[in-house]
Amino acid sequence: MKVPFLDLNAHHLKMTGEIEDAIRAVIAQSAFVGGPFVEAFEREFAAFCRCRQAVGVGSGTEALWLSLLGLGIGRGDEVITVPNTFIATVEAITMTGATPVLVDVDAQTQTMDPAGFLAAITPATRAVIPVHLFGQTAEMDGILKIASVHGLAVIEDACQAHGATYRGRMAGSMGRAGCFSFYPGKNLGAFGEAGAVVTNDDELAARMRMLRDHGQRRKYIHARPGWNARLDGIQAAVLSVKLRHLPEANAARRQAARTYNAALDGLDGVARPCEAGYGEHIYHIYAIRSAQRARLIEALAAHDIGYGIHYPQPIHLQEAYQSLNRPRGSYPVAEQVAGELLSLPMYPELRPDQIAYVAGVLAESCAADAPGYSEQRMSFVA
Ligand SMILES: *Cc1c(COP(=O)(O)O)cnc(C)c1O
Repeated sequence: MKVPFLDLNAHHLKMTGEIEDAIRAVIAQSAFVGGPFVEAFEREFAAFCRCRQAVGVGSGTEALWLSLLGLGIGRGDEVITVPNTFIATVEAITMTGATPVLVDVDAQTQTMDPAGFLAAITPATRAVIPVHLFGQTAEMDGILKIASVHGLAVIEDACQAHGATYRGRMAGSMGRAGCFSFYPGKNLGAFGEAGAVVTNDDELAARMRMLRDHGQRRKYIHARPGWNARLDGIQAAVLSVKLRHLPEANAARRQAARTYNAALDGLDGVARPCEAGYGEHIYHIYAIRSAQRARLIEALAAHDIGYGIHYPQPIHLQEAYQSLNRPRGSYPVAEQVAGELLSLPMYPELRPDQIAYVAGVLAESCAADAPGYSEQRMSFVA
């Protein structure tokens, strides 16, 4: 049985007609950049996140970068985030001229440890970016409280957390700004690149609307240098359709995670993802942990099962960030999970029989002891 890591075709099948109609409407009005479809999606997405404002931009990376710029962060400032994230979180800080400061994560949730955040604050710290990893929010009460005491802005990297909750609050709605990516593979994905910032701060939203459009106050009158970071009409129209299906899709992912959890229960050497008691995980990624990852990967690959590693190398060990001067050993939890995490197939249409098959292959691989295992390996090759 072939089980892909992600099946966007299966996901779009039931909404193809709606999406085609939406794209035709954009073409009929030639509303390709900004315009009514972008404004409509911004209203809908703000309401979904229970925020006053949403500002559509070109990607999640731009959402993070423009949020920092909109808060006036730049050279000489420090921004605290985590090493186990997609590189965009840290790049956005770098591109403002500010210095990224990394802190280690909680071993259970692999999200920012509030105590580590507190310990990293210096007089130069201006903001903190907790990452809601894999669809689960960070422990926000601790982070919000520390940030408030020290006068720091909280920018949520909610690029993997569309619809995740924390104590009844929506991911992205708790800090000064919440940053979302609509990269096609995200829980809410466009048909190309797209992103958004949500906020309850009207002035910040107004600054970001200017920044995403060349710092323009009105046509060809520029108040400050900005950038072209606008959202396309076609992407917005597709996103409006897909947003209507998102709650159901997230619920299906949660159901798939429960099915995996039951199927993997008691499997020796495999740790299932931890769902913290404080909110709803929306399983952008379903990642198990195992010290035997290489062997599990071999078994999955031999059985045509897709997988991923999120992420194989923490930021401080990337060539791009050697300037941080944080050698191996600096962030023990992030480094350990980088060697153990294994992301299994996860999408709303994933079927119970596919999950049972994946779990069976993992169980077989775990059960095999060393000599038996090499025999099995040969049978995989055949
Ligand atoms: C996807 C992602 C981003 C970047 O979003 P793009 O739309 O690809 O620019 C940033 N942070 C995290 C955690 C992500 O998963």
